Amino acid sequence: MAQLFHIKTFGCQMNKHDSDSISKILLDKGYSQADSIEDAHIILINTCAVREKAEEKALTLIGRLARLKMKRPDMIAGVIGCVAQEKGMNLFRRFPYLDLVLGPRSIYHVDEFISQIKKRRERVSSLDLACELTCFPNYNGYLKGRVKSFLKIMEGCDNFCSYCIVPFVRGRETSLPAKEIIHETKCLISQEIKEITLIGQNVNSYNVKNQALPTFPGLLKELDSITGLERLRFTTSHPKDLSDELIGSFGELNSLCPHIHLPVQSGSDNILKLMNRGYTRDKYIGLIERLRKTRPDMTITSDMIVGFPGEREKDFEDSLRLMDEIEFDNLFSFMYSERPGIKALQLPGKIGKKEKQTRLSILQERQRGITLSKNKLLEGTIQETLVEGPAKRGDDQLTGRTLGNKVVNFPGRSNLKGQVVGIKIVKGLQNSLLGELVDR
Ligand code: SF4
Repeated sequence: MAQLFHIKTFGCQMNKHDSDSISKILLDKGYSQADSIEDAHIILINTCAVREKAEEKALTLIGRLARLKMKRPDMIAGVIGCVAQEKGMNLFRRFPYLDLVLGPRSIYHVDEFISQIKKRRERVSSLDLACELTCFPNYNGYLKGRVKSFLKIMEGCDNFCSYCIVPFVRGRETSLPAKEIIHETKCLISQEIKEITLIGQNVNSYNVKNQALPTFPGLLKELDSITGLERLRFTTSHPKDLSDELIGSFGELNSLCPHIHLPVQSGSDNILKLMNRGYTRDKYIGLIERLRKTRPDMTITSDMIVGFPGEREKDFEDSLRLMDEIEFDNLFSFMYSERPGIKALQLPGKIGKKEKQTRLSILQERQRGITLSKNKLLEGTIQETLVEGPAKRGDDQLTGRTLGNKVVNFPGRSNLKGQVVGIKIVKGLQNSLLGELVDR
């Protein structure tokens, strides 16, 4: 019988994509997926170190594996991803029953490490941040039933924002060769994938270290010309690297969807400088204006941090004013979280937890109002929607995404899955839209 594995993933899209890559590798080597941790012979916890809370949750789960390992000593327990990179061999000291500790750049050899553990019954770790990136267009039915997929085009980051641990745990920026990305795109299309989201810590600086190779707008152009690619998206974009050429791509490329996630992090120049973000509030507003001029229907989402060290009441007000001015379609907001090794640790003016919570609630309440009114503005419009499958609410309801990446639920038959249809929006809600089918 094939050995069963289970991966528990914490954190962002990048981690989900990494877990998918590991699953593909293991399926390819004859392992099968287990539905739960309890049923698995191999348990991998894919961790996120970006915020303290996500890290704590992962560490709690790793702690719980002790009981399973006592019951089943042959089970293999591994920690992978950013917390593995950050804590390294300390994880073996804190959780002596662990067999495997793998940093994010070592996941591509996960099958070899597991074989090594099985053969020698010894612990294995790999924390090398210089490993080559690669992709796995060998799907073996893994994508069955999906209509969209992520495609990693780069890894790591050179920006060193003062609040961020990513450059320390994912290493320096490395881009995947365009040839491989094009090949994987064609493979995904052959698997009936209709929408591809290119991912990287900062896709805008794709190949920036080697000007002889295609830049990000050049890559988008090449991908757009591939027959069968219905929709193309990308994330994440750093505002300081958003070029006019890239903005222009939204007006030129048929498959490129009019949605951008452009993290602003603060509306105060003072805080942006302390964060080492490399742009000002005015520069950011200018980018949004140019994006909206190119595509008036552009959906704009962003990230905001509250309670960064030194954030005065006035700085926080600047963030609220920026939100009012720009009217983001959605905003992902967080309290500043101290992470080991980051530059912001040395900054004075730490904000207490209670104050951070108050600011976060005010900001989120303000954004809820903006998001709802933006969704209501779509009432009566017809939205080109990619049908993803049955909606959670059941009752013959389907769910899909508009070009602007908003969730739409509507009554319809399951045979529409994977098709792009016209949906008339009848109601804009807080987190989604309700619609009816008008055009197949
Ligand atoms: S751009 Fe800044 S926030 Fe984004 S991954 Fe790099 S260092 Fe972190």
